Amino acid sequence: MRVLSVAAEIYPLIKTGGLADVAGALPAALALKGAKMVSFVPGYPAVMAALENAQELHRFDDLAGAPAVLRAGMAKGLDVIVLDAQHLFNRSGNPYLGPDGKDWPDNARRFAAFSEVAAELAKGSYGGFSADLLHGHDWQAALASCYLRYRGGPKSLLTIHNIAFQGVFAPEIFASLNLPAQAYAVDGVEYYGNVSFLKGGLASATALSTVSPTYAQEICTANYGMGLEGLLQARRASLAGIVNGIDDTVWNPATDKALKENYTVKTLDKRKANKRELERRFGLEQGEGIIHGVVSRLTWQKGLDIFASLLDGVVAQGARLAVLGNGEPNIEQAFRAAAQRHKGRIGVVTAYDEQLSHLIQGGADTMLVPSRFEPCGLTQLYGLRYGCVPLVARVGGLADTIIDANDAGISAGVATGIQFIPVDGITLQGALARTQGLYNQPAIWRGLQERGMASDVSWNRSAEAYANLYKSILSGGTR
Ligand code: ADP
Repeated sequence: MRVLSVAAEIYPLIKTGGLADVAGALPAALALKGAKMVSFVPGYPAVMAALENAQELHRFDDLAGAPAVLRAGMAKGLDVIVLDAQHLFNRSGNPYLGPDGKDWPDNARRFAAFSEVAAELAKGSYGGFSADLLHGHDWQAALASCYLRYRGGPKSLLTIHNIAFQGVFAPEIFASLNLPAQAYAVDGVEYYGNVSFLKGGLASATALSTVSPTYAQEICTANYGMGLEGLLQARRASLAGIVNGIDDTVWNPATDKALKENYTVKTLDKRKANKRELERRFGLEQGEGIIHGVVSRLTWQKGLDIFASLLDGVVAQGARLAVLGNGEPNIEQAFRAAAQRHKGRIGVVTAYDEQLSHLIQGGADTMLVPSRFEPCGLTQLYGLRYGCVPLVARVGGLADTIIDANDAGISAGVATGIQFIPVDGITLQGALARTQGLYNQPAIWRGLQERGMASDVSWNRSAEAYANLYKSILSGGTR
């Protein structure tokens, strides 16, 4: 079985969030299950720089306004086909945002071209490559399923990593999409008078999936569906939920080079050296008290505005914080101001820093994820693996991957973290107090760490689920 994965981000080449981790880890995990995955990626500067042994598959005289080349090769261990289109992708930094922090004005053109070439590539239109199945990710790849639907070609799976990002554009762009007129309709890309790439994909793909069973249920409801719940309800039978795994070669406390000291579940005491280093890097006073860690986009979704409003109280109770994240300016500012007020108690780094994110997992006591919604979430999975106890909202993938340390969970010996719901300040405050209480009982805390570290969060199980899903799509399946 040959699968063409189509994603606008792929770790370690280009990443803004969890989608990249998934797209980057799935090929190797699937290879062990007998599926061959080739990844189709935009030719951003970082991708072009990493591309080795490239062979030209196809030349376009005019792709969305200028010449472009399809190149197949290897990049950092990944089998890739790259769309080398300088006018669309030769822009460094964030793949979607310009230097002014706003969406590039031609994002519709960029990702429509990417998706159209992906569909034709899967069909076998270029250079002898073809795929049995196209697996697209998020709105940037969603139109690939539309092109396949209207032009014919292999079946497709569309995975939703976050339904908040829908790729909605003004209706005028429809004419440039090279889709038939009938696609501008309620069962196509039309969305309240605009064009929605994600909606078009959701209406067109053979099958749909998202990144946890709970999120699959949630997005069929008005609270979480962000306007697409009706369509998703109609397609509920074709919508699967598969929790992400983590790349346990990159995320392994026994070998992680970003840590001061490596450790395993048997040598948890060595985490102390990482806690000391964390204190140093975040300018925190030294001590044995609890350090809450945050590694996140600082956005409304992540509930960090709620946490930011509680910081004075958290510090008054004796906790310290190490916060790594960037995002919405007002949330960044709230954390920076709190760090100014509480020098030595709150350390904040408003940047994207992969190495530092590992140190937080390896040195902090908790990984705080108070998300209002969370399709799957990866940081709590890293937390489990690193003995950094997840403190999470009970939504989406956070509900599926963490077992709450309530009395029943502790006495049954299954608890791996702390959950709270609803996602508001009072409940979060209660959860923080409960966490402190558990931290004060070293045997119980150690139990949470040990069980978390022993839980299987690798790609093995998820890859098996994807391989089975691919098989069921190919052997009939839906749409
Ligand atoms: P999302 O994809 O919604 O941002 P996930 O938890 O699924 O959330 O994935 C986030 C990924 O991005 C994780 O790998 C996390 O470690 C990483 N990350 C987020 N913010 C930062 C940051 N400021 N520095 C380093 N890594 C970060």
